[in-house]
Amino acid sequence: MYSKILVLRFPQTEVQKPIVCCLARNYDLVFNILNATVLPRKEGIMVLELSGSRKNFNEGVQYLKSQGVSVQNASQEVKRDNDKCTHCGACTAVCPTGALSVKRPDMTVSFDQGRCSVCELCVPACPPRAMKIRPINNSFF
Ligand code: SF4
Ligand code: SF4
Repeated sequence: MYSKILVLRFPQTEVQKPIVCCLARNYDLVFNILNATVLPRKEGIMVLELSGSRKNFNEGVQYLKSQGVSVQNASQEVKRDNDKCTHCGACTAVCPTGALSVKRPDMTVSFDQGRCSVCELCVPACPPRAMKIRPINNSFF
């Protein structure tokens, strides 16, 4: 059994389609949705664990891509460089999962990596570029 955690990004036009159900039915894959968010621009992001035979897994990923879905190995993570963070709060406005939030009363910005879906929206939103994408390993599709 081959299994990986993937980050899927659905374009606005595909958010309502049952793409993941087709993926399971047509490629005999098992999925476990770990996180799903529809962003303000209506782009959808889903983090899911996908399991099956290696052949079916690869064919399923190709199917997702053919549907316009961006597929990324979740072996990336987002880290904050605490030395660079000025606690300006800009990232909290774009973070869809609440991983970045303002703590009261001192108004510092905390980063809870366990809630991070690796959507990367905070990376360009951070003025001093404190938020970084880091590969956990080098396997990408
Ligand atoms: S946008 Fe960057 S500098 Fe501002 S609080 Fe977030 S991580 Fe810190
Ligand atoms: S990548 Fe940044 S914006 Fe996206 S969930 Fe993680 S902390 Fe929030």
